[in-house]
Amino acid sequence: MRSRIKSDALFKEALNYLPGGVNSPVRAFRAVGGQPFFVNRAKGARVWDVDGNEYIDYVGTWGPAILGHAYPKIIEAVQKTAEAGTSFGIPNPLEVTMAKLICATVPSVKKVRMCNSGTEATMSAIRLARGFTHRDKIIKFEGCYHGHVDSLLVKAGSGALTFGHPDSAGVPAAFTQHTIVLPFNDLDAVQQALAANPGQVAGIILEPVPGNSGVFAPLPGYLEGLRQLTSEAGALLIFDEVMTGFRLARGGAQERYGITPDLSCFGKIIGGGLPVGAFGGRTDIMDCLAPLGPVYQAGTLSGNPLAMAAGITALEELGKNDAYARLEALGARLEHGLREAARSAGLPSRVNRVGSMFCAYFTDQPVNNLADAMKSDRERFARFFRGMLEEGIYLAPSQFEAGFLSLAHTPEDVDRTVAATAKVLQTLK
Ligand SMILES: *Cc1c(COP(=O)(O)O)cnc(C)c1O
Repeated sequence: MRSRIKSDALFKEALNYLPGGVNSPVRAFRAVGGQPFFVNRAKGARVWDVDGNEYIDYVGTWGPAILGHAYPKIIEAVQKTAEAGTSFGIPNPLEVTMAKLICATVPSVKKVRMCNSGTEATMSAIRLARGFTHRDKIIKFEGCYHGHVDSLLVKAGSGALTFGHPDSAGVPAAFTQHTIVLPFNDLDAVQQALAANPGQVAGIILEPVPGNSGVFAPLPGYLEGLRQLTSEAGALLIFDEVMTGFRLARGGAQERYGITPDLSCFGKIIGGGLPVGAFGGRTDIMDCLAPLGPVYQAGTLSGNPLAMAAGITALEELGKNDAYARLEALGARLEHGLREAARSAGLPSRVNRVGSMFCAYFTDQPVNNLADAMKSDRERFARFFRGMLEEGIYLAPSQFEAGFLSLAHTPEDVDRTVAATAKVLQTLK
């Protein structure tokens, strides 16, 4: 067994001062048993815990680390920028560079506003959609996560087609009464909901490739269908690309699938590992934001120079050297290896992958939505997770998270991961 003496001591202390010992719930490892390890160093595709254990990392700080951890050019840009001041609260040139870069890379985005997290981005995009359309209702999908925004923290109940039910205590029912929750990959459900709420739906928000219930892909024609239905209904199509943006293609899922949303949300990769979010889209919609229009949105640290410097560097680097072709090849190698390992272990499994996002479910049924994902044997996943950790492979500590490849992962890393998978699966039969 790997020694976790220092991590265990830190966690014990953390429990006294931080609720659950963590600043974000999944980090507590509740879904997989055991205790979290504490990391004080990361480089490339590796993280090291405070006891000196090394892991190949497939969490990548939940997505941002697409170039690998502690990427030298990002570190350098942050250091150099910090010397000139860490925050100004008045326009700085890096904000313009960043905005131009996003607009040039994602053609549906004509104007963009920077904020500080993915949650802020989706929260503001929803407000903007409502302010622009003068409508209140929002459609979201089961299993899509858009941050901890009150009105979006809703999962499907039996009343999914009418009013959503809060997913978290502390969210008044009144805050979610305008949220309609539907199953993903079901165009009929969307058509019916729009017909049942004529002239009332401000927008449909979705992760174009959901990556917060594991990973599943939009079925052929689904995104095209959403585009058409929203246009016909006068509702906005909002792509939450906080995870998929600059990951599934340089221009995100919208480039990969050839869809033009009205608004898009970003985060994670665009901050290069610093706290950032952004939302942008059509000029007529974006110009409804204060100070030009009546929709209020603001942020003391928005457009922070350190975050801009890190993000600009990350986006520029991603434009080089066939980055996405390399990620695709690594992904295909991993997908193939995981499938073979599961087959030889004789365990029912489904490996879903889109580009550098992947998830393995312990079920023999296809996984195309949240209900399918829920059929996975989570107890088996928890044992798999713990086995892999012992082998020095760090997967996300939940069945319902995506795994991420980075440009720092090598084919050898992938092969080692596949070999560890084969070994661990043998113990799960
Ligand atoms: C991570 C994520 C968010 C929330 O971003 P935070 O920076 O954690 O607030 C929103 N939407 C999607 C799709 C995400 O993956």
